[in-house]
Amino acid sequence: RDQYIESKFTRLNPVQRQAVFTTEGPLLILAGAGSGKTTVLVNRIANIIRFGSAHGSKELPRTVTQQDLEDLRATVQSGRDLPRETAYLAVRPARPWNVLAITFTNKAAGELKERLRAMLGETMGGDVNASTFHSACVRILRRDAERIGFPKSFTIYDSDDQQRVLKQIYKDKMIDDKFLPIKSAVSQISSYKDKLMSPEDVAAETPRDTKAALISKIYTTYAGRLKTAGAMDFDDLIYHTVRLLQTDAEAREYYQNKFRYVVVDEYQDTSIAQFHLVRLLAGGTNNVCVVGDDDQSIYKFRGATIENILNFEQVFTGAKTIRLEQNYRSTSNILNAANSVIKNNTGRKGKTLWTEKGDGDKVHHYTAASEQDEASHIADVIGEHLREGAHLRDHAVLYRMNAQSNPIETYFARAGIPYRIVGGQRFFDRKEVKDINSYLAVIVNPRDDVRLRRIINEPARKIGASTVDKVGELAARQGVPMLQIIADVRQYPELTRAAASLEKFYEMYRELCDLSVTIPLDEFAGEVIKKTGYEAMLKAQKEEGETRLENLGQLVSSVKTYADQNGEDATLSGFLEEVALISDLDSYDQDADSVTMMTIHSAKGLEFPYVFVVGMEDGIFPGDMARYNEEDMEEERRLCYVAITRAKKELYLSTSRSRLIFGQTRRNLPSCFLSEIDPGLMEETQSPELAYSAGGFGAGYGTYSTSVPGGRSGYSGVSRGYLNSEYNARPRGGFGAGYSSGFASGGHDSPHYNGGRHTV
Ligand code: ATP
Ligand code: MG
Repeated sequence: RDQYIESKFTRLNPVQRQAVFTTEGPLLILAGAGSGKTTVLVNRIANIIRFGSAHGSKELPRTVTQQDLEDLRATVQSGRDLPRETAYLAVRPARPWNVLAITFTNKAAGELKERLRAMLGETMGGDVNASTFHSACVRILRRDAERIGFPKSFTIYDSDDQQRVLKQIYKDKMIDDKFLPIKSAVSQISSYKDKLMSPEDVAAETPRDTKAALISKIYTTYAGRLKTAGAMDFDDLIYHTVRLLQTDAEAREYYQNKFRYVVVDEYQDTSIAQFHLVRLLAGGTNNVCVVGDDDQSIYKFRGATIENILNFEQVFTGAKTIRLEQNYRSTSNILNAANSVIKNNTGRKGKTLWTEKGDGDKVHHYTAASEQDEASHIADVIGEHLREGAHLRDHAVLYRMNAQSNPIETYFARAGIPYRIVGGQRFFDRKEVKDINSYLAVIVNPRDDVRLRRIINEPARKIGASTVDKVGELAARQGVPMLQIIADVRQYPELTRAAASLEKFYEMYRELCDLSVTIPLDEFAGEVIKKTGYEAMLKAQKEEGETRLENLGQLVSSVKTYADQNGEDATLSGFLEEVALISDLDSYDQDADSVTMMTIHSAKGLEFPYVFVVGMEDGIFPGDMARYNEEDMEEERRLCYVAITRAKKELYLSTSRSRLIFGQTRRNLPSCFLSEIDPGLMEETQSPELAYSAGGFGAGYGTYSTSVPGGRSGYSGVSRGYLNSEYNARPRGGFGAGYSSGFASGGHDSPHYNGGRHTV
């Protein structure tokens, strides 16, 4: 029998198999990217369900005696319930629903389910509880929330709702947002919940310094209001589940009996509260298996704590640790590039991955002239791959921030390359972008009633829904566009009450129409954002509004790009047409073959034959904020490691000399991570637009500058700034050392960096 079972897992290497057969007791699988952690996790679940622990029993922390097994068999045959203490020795295979598999993102959970179905068949595989932390908690709370004083049908508040509650509290308690920004209150409350501190705990602990006392008061009120409303925010889902399991023995036993096996993927990113959740859920049998990689911990900003991995062996007594070192995903050049970057981090458990795969291509590094040039390069490479027989779905484009997706989306749409954006809306689908585009649409076409309805009271202008409906009815009766009715509002007695507001709206509209023909398009788009009151509305929204404003900045950038590309022929309606074309992809089939675009954060755990990492520039990746803080810098470096290790066959990194982002043209230096990659592993190419730069960087730029206002003097100013102040001002220790030595040792000594300016 043992041989038969082992024969089912021959694809795995001996260490992986050992992990699959260690079914009982706590198990930590600590291993680098692409070493088969998730693969092992799926196989291990399959083993547990199909063959049970009988096979693994040789490796039980406690020896199972013959007597144990006979007792157990007798109990099972008699039909009695298994006593708790023998339940975990069960010879009978676990039922699918006895296994709880937790992972981080919905996408990863979906993939886990798919792989389980493939291994175990539709029904069995489908019955395994495979979910994210949050959805696992929702399921528990939908059953048991009443035990902690919430209705079973509790509402889940998203961050928007959360802000709204806090805003109301600020108003009621007359708290000054300047003294304590709502943003800080939100993150403070979130971190209390992550530490499982109730409002009472915080109140008892807080010294009476004003700010801390205030936050404590806000937390108490906030928690009270959510409770009254029968609502929970995202942090609450975990916090309350942990509280439930801690305080309610009956509930705890129920779940501990139900989940005989608990497994957690991406354990390096769990928070304190999530750790407690895992410990409580697995507390019955202690059959808990976690897999993770300390080098891939990328959620510290959300409270993830690497301590959970480092302390695993102490917290779960009798824990075993298994390390996997062979990488099955990437070619050796890609893997070595990843290794050479991550080794610059201190405070890691330290491991070096190896692979039996060949060298493969070198890591491609492309220097683009602009972000569109970068996008067009990607499109070209994809086109080449398609001709060679690859599929669109073999490609992924990864970026540090969502805002970077827009130029690539626009280019792909124009080039007819189907793409899909994971996590994060497509740029032109975002509400604020759609709103401003609707304003533009109404200016271009006064008959566009649908768009008019969308924006007439956005931002709020005291034009209520019933007024809008009345205008709509009048327009329909007379067969004219709604704007016509608004223009003549004084003629309609039924509109008297809203007449002033409507008139004001119309006045603004006229003003914008006039402007639209007098100033450049991008400037005009900026004016629309201001004059409609949209900007002011977003500014008042603080945190949420900030991102939205950034998106609108990006919209202005894309209007500008359009205008630059079309010169004399550029018109507002032309721009809208282009956008419509992009949005038309809306109707594309979710399962259709397409390129995946996503942030590096959401790419965790995934793999693709061809991976593009764009925006390899200081100030983008690593971000502006990270470079002065070593801890943040290390997190960015782990993120870079995650990005690189997503690639199976080929990795394309790109840097742009100039980048229009958030409505501004920026000139960034190549990312310091590039200089950490052994130059022998990389192959440098650059845009033909930069081809004249042989005689110096400036020449290339001069050519390029024909399409960019500002010209060469602007550039050299920036360049001097970099060399003299910014670059030299970098901290010399820590990452700074890695950075500068990388530079000095010639990481970037390719001809085009060598234009005489960037080498130090
Ligand atoms: P990450 O850290 O990125 O989450 P991981 O450690 O979870 O990676 P997997 O995604 O499980 O790694 O595996 C990476 C790739 O290696 C997958 O394509 C998988 O099918 C393959 N693989 C894993 N183990 C083996 C093996 N023993 N033989 C051949 N291929 C394997
Ligand atoms: Mg994985």
